[in-house]
Amino acid sequence: MLFNARYNTLPPRLYHHQQPVPLKGAKAGHFNAALADELQWSETDKQAWVDICSGQKTFAEFEPLAMVYAGHQFGQWAGQLGDGRGLLIGQIIDKHGQTIDLHLKGAGSTPYSRMGDGRAVLRSTIREYLAGHVLNNLGVASSNAVGFTSSEQGVQREKLELGAMMLRTSDCHIRLGHFEWINQYQSDLLPEFTQKCIEWHYPECLNAEQPILAFATQVIQRTAVMIAKWQLIGFAHGVMNTDNLNITGSTLDFGPYGFMERFRPNWINNHSDYQGRYTYQQQPSIGHWNLWQWLNNLVPLCPADYDKEQWKEDLAKCLEHFELTFLEHYKLGLAQKMGLPSFHKNSFDCAMAFLRILQSEQLDYTQSFIRLQNHKYEAIKDDCLDRRAFEGFLAQYESIRAHQDTDALDAEMAQANPQYILRNHMAQKAIELAERNDFSEVERLFTLLSRPFTKQPKLETTEDLGPLPSDVPEVMVSCSS
Ligand code: AMP
Ligand code: MG
Repeated sequence: MLFNARYNTLPPRLYHHQQPVPLKGAKAGHFNAALADELQWSETDKQAWVDICSGQKTFAEFEPLAMVYAGHQFGQWAGQLGDGRGLLIGQIIDKHGQTIDLHLKGAGSTPYSRMGDGRAVLRSTIREYLAGHVLNNLGVASSNAVGFTSSEQGVQREKLELGAMMLRTSDCHIRLGHFEWINQYQSDLLPEFTQKCIEWHYPECLNAEQPILAFATQVIQRTAVMIAKWQLIGFAHGVMNTDNLNITGSTLDFGPYGFMERFRPNWINNHSDYQGRYTYQQQPSIGHWNLWQWLNNLVPLCPADYDKEQWKEDLAKCLEHFELTFLEHYKLGLAQKMGLPSFHKNSFDCAMAFLRILQSEQLDYTQSFIRLQNHKYEAIKDDCLDRRAFEGFLAQYESIRAHQDTDALDAEMAQANPQYILRNHMAQKAIELAERNDFSEVERLFTLLSRPFTKQPKLETTEDLGPLPSDVPEVMVSCSS
């Protein structure tokens, strides 16, 4: 591994050095060899993956640390937070020259654990492992993981579960909440910290007339693109607190996440979210709210030669990019999913009509787009109670496509509509087997979701292709992990 240990060049007030505390009876869960190759792991490191992913081996080149940050949780100021059960154990350079964080989740309690035990359970570890993998393969910027280990150590949640650890990778673990912590508790660190964020993650902004405004705009745009992609793929993050969004717009900390099955815009996968703050349809406006909170932390960075009121106004103007960027990407992506030309004035209306049908008929989001892509219009209609509404939609749809290059549009659809997503019941089956020490279903899903846009008849099962019947109780997912 090629190290670029840079976070620990920051002032020590921003972190706490400590070693992972291994679990009893650590054992192999799953290893992402292709990712290890991307990260330029040596053969020796690959052979030692179980020791690395269980906290038994750390690296001389990087002294592990827990980061401190703060955040707004469910809309309320939560004060100081931090890595309560994860440690940054390395920053390494991948094949493309990019620095990637290695973060060991479940590595024991830290000064930021509050009441928590510093552990992660096998159930949530597998959920995060497979979701990071599929998001990356769906083209959504996200954390990923090199591997995870299980153990023989019990960890208490609603019931006693097995402890596990996962070696998460991300281009950035600096959260919006890092700025909130600094501004609230150690504001003298703000200029240096911001400068480092720009140098590390947005070096092109250093040449802008106002690097901080350019940086803010970039963070806002990347977050907007990420959320547009979530909406298109039908992903609900579940806990969009400001401590769970990073500054590079790559998906992070998605514990109680879910992939949309039957189309319900007000769907919430996280049963700890009693008020429905983080429903699927709210994600864009919550992203905007979080970024607004974050921008407040840049107010003290007003350059000496700048009018203070003007600075505030200019920061606020950066936020205007959010809606513009979101809509641009969402509309373009939706047109691709629909097989409609993005420039046609009626394409967006037609897509909305399709979504309304999915909603009122409670059809599966992913499979309905695949049926549309395969021109299986009758099959969709057969599942509709209101067949006339579908016929009305289809007439408009076909009239828009009538004078277009439909082969080209269909080719775009195939790149925008996954055959497979990670349904809760798919993950659940893999978890139940893994809890009995059988990782074969994790392996099957890992392989299937390595190529989510490609039909894999030999590998798929019927359950991968749609929601469970509506009379089967849904898998419950809460913040507890
Ligand atoms: P989350 O909303 O899951 O991202 O977690 C919010 C905060 O709680 C973060 O600071 C976590 O590090 C911390 N946390 C969550 N679970 C645990 C745990 N089991 N032990 C210690 N800290 C935890
Ligand atoms: Mg978190």
